[in-house]
Amino acid sequence: MPLDDLVLGLQRALDRLVRRLRLGPPPSPGRRRLLIVQIDGLSRSVLEEAIARGRAPFLARLIHRRGYLMTPMCVGLPTSTPAFQLAAMYGVRPDIPGFHYHDKRRQTDVYFPRGGDAAHVERTQAAGRRGIVNGGGTYGCVFTGGAASNLMTFAMMKRPTGAGLIRAASNLVVNAWVLVKGTIASTVEVVRVLLRTIADPVSAASGNWKWLAIKLGISVWLRELFTLAAARDIYAGVPAIYVNYLDYDVAGHAWGPRHRRALRALRRVDASILRLWRVLRRVPEYRYDLYVLSDHGQAASLPYLKVTGGRPIEQSLFEDFFDPEGVRAVSTPERKHGGLATGIEALRAQRAPGFFQRFVNYLEQDFPWVLGGTRSVRERGGIRVIAAGPNAFVYFLETAEPWTLERIEERYPALAARISASPGIGIVLVRSANGPLCFWRGARYGLDTLAAGPFAKRPDLERVVEGIRDLMAMPSAGDLVIYGIDAPQGNVSFVAEVGAHAGPSTDEMQTFMIHSRAVTVPTPITHPVQLYPHFARYQVDAA
Ligand SMILES: [Zn+2]
Repeated sequence: MPLDDLVLGLQRALDRLVRRLRLGPPPSPGRRRLLIVQIDGLSRSVLEEAIARGRAPFLARLIHRRGYLMTPMCVGLPTSTPAFQLAAMYGVRPDIPGFHYHDKRRQTDVYFPRGGDAAHVERTQAAGRRGIVNGGGTYGCVFTGGAASNLMTFAMMKRPTGAGLIRAASNLVVNAWVLVKGTIASTVEVVRVLLRTIADPVSAASGNWKWLAIKLGISVWLRELFTLAAARDIYAGVPAIYVNYLDYDVAGHAWGPRHRRALRALRRVDASILRLWRVLRRVPEYRYDLYVLSDHGQAASLPYLKVTGGRPIEQSLFEDFFDPEGVRAVSTPERKHGGLATGIEALRAQRAPGFFQRFVNYLEQDFPWVLGGTRSVRERGGIRVIAAGPNAFVYFLETAEPWTLERIEERYPALAARISASPGIGIVLVRSANGPLCFWRGARYGLDTLAAGPFAKRPDLERVVEGIRDLMAMPSAGDLVIYGIDAPQGNVSFVAEVGAHAGPSTDEMQTFMIHSRAVTVPTPITHPVQLYPHFARYQVDAA
């Protein structure tokens, strides 16, 4: 967009002036720099369909006319953003079994959008390694990857007063422009929904307003902010940038991965990548390498409540398996948060550091799937159940170490087989003395016999086996790991969403990385851990 260019040009001139006055020389050209654009939640098959149908015209152009390659990538298990990003940013196989889980050793839940949780995981699991975004900028990520500048990155949500905010605040011109554009776009969207609601008040009402809130928050304001922040970093020659566009994933959860609204969100992300591309072309001396990748895909899914007529998974498990005689299970609600109004009040009261966190909490209350899952937890009689998406974890809290099947079934005979045969359930994973086991439709499979059962038709069976082995080796994975993926009713999610991920379906596990033909990437990419040495080379260059 020519106006964007004008604004970025103005900001650049201003930066140059400021640098001349106090900051010294501009960054040296020559070294190669890293720009990673993540399209959250986009499977390879949806991208291929979108390209074929003209829904991602810029990515199509990169591949067909600019000599870029699309390398297939398998992302391992769980198919979840924090697991992907920790592996890619630090080169470790993380102990992150889902977006929301329990840590028996610390006796606490880990829930990524909660302030401090992401930062703790990053601090304790990065193995003292240098992150691939060290000295750079991350936007919309779960972890910082070592970046000095972070906006809407979970690990920095609690204290966004760091360099990210200062840098954002110093970008006066860019910020003012985001404000103008965001306001105009928001007004247009509000008017559109108003007109639609007037035309068809009954059917339009709820869906339209819900969608409007997401579109404004994530697809207008955040995308705009991320794009301009990244563009600004490129002009400044920042050594590494990792920007994560959330739009498509959020729309996919709400409407389904192939719904027209999700594809429209993808189209807008595609346009943002084009804008970044144009900026890259203007500073060839900085030698940025562009990578466009996805952290996981989504499976079209059916909410579990629809299968059971309104009974959540935690309730089913307690009533049917753990405590059939017991009194009504008592849910243990987590601390309630104040929502947006409180956030604004806090901002007024100069307690601004909590503001981003409060925005997240506000989103979480009304749009839990925006953040990848609800905080749905029940505990009674020493058993804690956490539903995080198409996955639910059962923890026996008596001991800190994981329970094997042998130990579980001493108390609850044939438990895993019985759960796997109940409505809305796909597979149940459990550890045993002889390694992980998988239960499906009431029958038991070892990792060597999966081809005879739930994964009979998978050409990437080896990846599924490796993923299950990784997942069940994580100390924080539940003593039972229950998936709604591949239930008799279809793919089922334990939260209210129609696009889901965390599980082993092909669309969830198989994604892509688009990159220049001039760079040599590891092939095949069977796990994001392989990306680390490749991206870390840009850091070695820096030293
Ligand atoms: Zn998601």
